[in-house]
Amino acid sequence: HQLTLRNLLILQAQTQTEEMMGGNPVIGLLGGGQLGRMLCEAANPLGIDVAILDEKNAPAKQAHNTNRHVTGSFKDAARIRELASRSDYLSVEIEHVDTEVLEEIERDGVEVELDDGTVAIHRPPIHPSWRTLRLVQDKYLQKEHFRSDGGIPIAEQMAIASGDETLDSLKEAAEKYGYPFMLKARKGSYDGRGNFKVSSEDDLVPAVTALGNLPLYAEKWAPFVKELAVMVIRTEDDHGNLTGCVPYPAVETIHEDSICTKTFLPPREVPDEVCEKARKLACKVISTLWGRGVFAVEMFLLDDDSLMVNEVAPRPHNSGHYTIEAVPYMSQYKAQIHAVLDLPVPENLIPRVPASIMLNILGGATPTSHHELTRRARRTFDKDMDVHLHLYGKESKPGRKIGHITINGYSSIEELEKKAAPFIELVDRIRQ
Ligand code: ATP
Ligand code: MG
Ligand code: MG
Repeated sequence: HQLTLRNLLILQAQTQTEEMMGGNPVIGLLGGGQLGRMLCEAANPLGIDVAILDEKNAPAKQAHNTNRHVTGSFKDAARIRELASRSDYLSVEIEHVDTEVLEEIERDGVEVELDDGTVAIHRPPIHPSWRTLRLVQDKYLQKEHFRSDGGIPIAEQMAIASGDETLDSLKEAAEKYGYPFMLKARKGSYDGRGNFKVSSEDDLVPAVTALGNLPLYAEKWAPFVKELAVMVIRTEDDHGNLTGCVPYPAVETIHEDSICTKTFLPPREVPDEVCEKARKLACKVISTLWGRGVFAVEMFLLDDDSLMVNEVAPRPHNSGHYTIEAVPYMSQYKAQIHAVLDLPVPENLIPRVPASIMLNILGGATPTSHHELTRRARRTFDKDMDVHLHLYGKESKPGRKIGHITINGYSSIEELEKKAAPFIELVDRIRQ
C-alpha cells in the first residue's frame, strides 16, 4: 500500500519539475569544469537546462545561466542531494564523486516541497550509473573487472601493499615485471598525477616517497607504438537493459609527461582494420558497464597490432573534443545529453571531414605564454583548414588545461599535419 502511495508522490514531484521548466528537462551535473562547459554549450540551443554543482563562477557556470546552480563540492553529500532536488536527471563531468550518496538517491530519492506545501519524494535517474562510477574510480578494480567479466586485454597488474610493506611489495612487482614498470594511485588520479614510472632499482624509494601514502597498484610497462582512444555512446532502457553501443571513430592520442596534448583523426599510419578493431573492443568494454552516456576507452596499440585497454572515462573526454566540429550533428556533448535524456542517437557517427587535429592549450610559464597561439588561431583563414579556438574561462597556470584548438582539414591527416605545423610548433613551445 505504502509503496503505491510513494510511487504516486514520486510521479507528482517529477511532473512538477518538468512543468516548472515548461517541459524542458533539467540535467543536474556534478562538476563544472571545461567538460561541463562544453556540455552547456551543446545544451543551450536545445533549451535544456543544466544545473551545475561546483564552485561559484566555475567554467561551466559561466556558459549557462540558470537559478538552479548549486555552490559547493561534488564530493559533498548534502550539496549533491540539493542538486538532485532541482534536477530531472543527474549526470557527471568527473568520476571522482561521492557514489554513496548517488546510490542513496537512487534507492530512497530526495525530499522536495510541492507548491501546496506537501513534501514528496523525487528520484531523478542517474546516468551513468553510480555502479559504473564506483568501479571506474578504482583503476585497479576497473581493469580486473574488464579482464574477468569481458576477457578484455589489459596490462598485467598487481595491488601494492600499504604501510611498512610497500617497499617489499614494489620489489616483488619489479621482479615480476622487470624495469621499467608503472606505479599508479588506484584512485583520484587524472592527467598523469598519481603515476610514477619506476625505471630502475634507484627509483623504488623515491616512488614510495612520492605515492606511498595512497592505495597503489603496479602495472607492467606497455611497449606501445601508439595510443588510441574511442568514444562510445551507451544507451539503455529505463530498466537497465543495454540498447546500444555506438562508437565514434578511433583517434590517436599523444601524451607528454602523462598528459594528453594532441589528438589526430584518423590515427597516423594505422590501418583501417586496426581502427575498426579498436572500435569493436571499445564497445565490448563499455557493454560491461551500467547506465547511459558517453564513455572514453583509452588503449595501447602494440607493434603486433594487438590492443590493450588502459582505462575508461565514464563521461565526455579530451579525446572527443574534436567531435564538436568534426561530427557536428552529434558531438560527444550533444550525445551525452541525448543519451542521458533517452533521446535518439544516430546509428553511425561519421565525421564531416577527412582529417581533424586537436591541440590542447596548456598553461605555460607565464599567464601570457599561450597568447601568440590564440592570436594566430583567431587570425587564420585558410581554404584547406578550419581553425576552431576554445578557451575555457580558466586562469592560466603551468600545465593546466585552459583551452584547445580543433583544426579540420579537407585532405589527408598527413597533409593537415603539414598545414597545421605552425600551430603544433607554438603548442610545443608553450610547454618548454
Ligand atoms: P587521464 O588524464 O587520462 O585520466 P591518468 O592520470 O588516469 O590519465 P593513465 O591514463 O593511467 O593516467 O596514464 C597516463 C599515460 O601514461 C598514458 O596515457 C600513457 O601514455 C602512460 N602510461 C600509463 N600506463 C602505462 C603503462 N602500463 N605502460 C606505458 N605507459 C603507460
Ligand atoms: Mg584516468
Ligand atoms: Mg588516461
